[in-house]
Amino acid sequence: MSLSEFELIERYFCRGLRIRDDVVLGIGDDAGVVRVRAGHELVSAIATLSAASPGVNIRRPREFGHRCLATALNRLAASGAEPHWTTLALTLPRAEEPWLKAFSRGLRDLAEREEIQLIGGDTTRGPLAVTVVVDGTVPSGKAVRCDGARPGDLVFVTGPMGSARDARGRTLVESRPQATAGKRTSGSRADLPVPRVRCAMALRGRASAACDLSPGLSTAVEAMLSASAVGATLYPDRLPSTAPLDHPGISRSQRLGLSAGGDLELCFTLPRDERGGIEALVAGLGVIATEIGEVEATPGLRLRLD
Ligand code: ADP
Ligand code: MG
Repeated sequence: MSLSEFELIERYFCRGLRIRDDVVLGIGDDAGVVRVRAGHELVSAIATLSAASPGVNIRRPREFGHRCLATALNRLAASGAEPHWTTLALTLPRAEEPWLKAFSRGLRDLAEREEIQLIGGDTTRGPLAVTVVVDGTVPSGKAVRCDGARPGDLVFVTGPMGSARDARGRTLVESRPQATAGKRTSGSRADLPVPRVRCAMALRGRASAACDLSPGLSTAVEAMLSASAVGATLYPDRLPSTAPLDHPGISRSQRLGLSAGGDLELCFTLPRDERGGIEALVAGLGVIATEIGEVEATPGLRLRLD
């Protein structure tokens, strides 16, 4: 790389990131050191993105940088943890400065908004891959897990669904070779998705289980149901998709939300007596939560039209 690894880190990843006083040692030492509050547990989540990941367009580096952190954050969020620190493993074919500038800005803007500090990483040369670890904390014993769903619970998703697919749909049209890195400044939910951190924190002590939907709704929900040793019936035409369902039917819904990956939304299950408060609670956070089905004792995922 023309830019040395040291210069690259100094230029793009050290700036504006000393924002937390619980970081004892940040970038510069072999390992980061942080202080964990008494009575809390450390929660850690990781995401790796490449050019082939759902919702990714590496020709839009600001959005890509944002999405790398947002994906790890949404995974952490599913546990109800509050994010504090992040580390970044960056594998790049070459050090292209405009690209790095926009990428690091996308990542940094989101980190600042969520008050997360980058405390270390590693930079290597090779085919593009980005791994982000986000660490956070949760009051001891209060993490929301994927194995707590019980028969009779209601299934909710945050929405809208299908925005990652929309982003990619547009990407296929927009990505021409002359497109300049980082030129676009405006960002929609699909371009700069907001991970559901506050929403999930509000679900602590209420939701019986939760999972991140970036693997795709059916994949993620099946894993959650199987971990909980239960099943569910979902009503696909209740799914809050970004595009109207132009004809009713499971196949259309499946294309929109059930199998698409990359949506930074959450699915959670809720005991019925928690239903009353939850919609108002999440709406107060500017998030829409839609009831899409119910948990049953019989294992497996069943789809039914209303
Ligand atoms: P080493 O020679 O031990 O691999 P590096 O030069 O890779 O050390 O890293 C120097 C410092 O910069 C370390 O504190 C490391 O955590 C940090 N660092 C390296 N790459 C990144 C990155 N992409 N983002 C954030 N910090 C990084
Ligand atoms: Mg290194």
